[in-house]
Amino acid sequence: MRGLSVIGISKSGKTTTIENIIGELKRRNYSVGSIKEIHFHAFKMDIEGTNTDRHRKAGATLVTARGDHETDILFQEKLPLNEIFKFYNHDFVIMEGVRDTSAPKIIAAQDIEGIESRLDESVIAISGVISNEIKEYKGIPVINSLTNLKELVDLIEEKTFKLLPDVNDECCKACGYTCSELGVAIINGEASRDDCVLSSPAVILKINGNDIPMVPFVQSILKNTVEAIVGELDGYVDNGEIEVCIRR
Ligand code: SF4
Repeated sequence: MRGLSVIGISKSGKTTTIENIIGELKRRNYSVGSIKEIHFHAFKMDIEGTNTDRHRKAGATLVTARGDHETDILFQEKLPLNEIFKFYNHDFVIMEGVRDTSAPKIIAAQDIEGIESRLDESVIAISGVISNEIKEYKGIPVINSLTNLKELVDLIEEKTFKLLPDVNDECCKACGYTCSELGVAIINGEASRDDCVLSSPAVILKINGNDIPMVPFVQSILKNTVEAIVGELDGYVDNGEIEVCIRR
């Protein structure tokens, strides 16, 4: 699944930009999911006194509101992005206001100050209100998502890549970069998505069918531990593929 985040201050045109991008991606026959980051600290979808709120207050740690046209699973915490991505199986996930991702970004801005407040090396384009006034800023294209949507989505198709694992900076660097740094190198054409060693891991761990990404250090521990145990068993074959399934 490829990722893109549209960032910018309030009233900069983020949501309109995203609406236009999603519409054009759909016209190009991609499946699209989206994520909206809510920066309002007190935000809650559930309302005080509703039945689901009463379930939660009674101690339910996961509450679901199941209606005829919508199902809302109300997690009582802010989930990490990688946990959220497990619910998605789309060609693209378009994020609004998400900054803690190595995915390429588009800034929506009203003015230069709005650009500067969000500018970093992961930005592939600028859009929003300011695209009525300028066409380029510091070498980055400024593209109006209403009048030049095809150009904007062509660029998105060119620059986006399968989401990187976004592990903690201290945990890996097996590709020679942090995940964010590799993202920038891919955008700049200096590296490939395949440079992430987790793209074809030597050890695969699944829980309930979901892949659990492991940095190379953890893969080595698991591999060495399993090999040390099964290597003593009858039937062990050097260099054979090992499968372990733990049923609980
Ligand atoms: S190898 Fe993959 S997981 Fe490790 S730092 Fe590089 S991009 Fe991140």
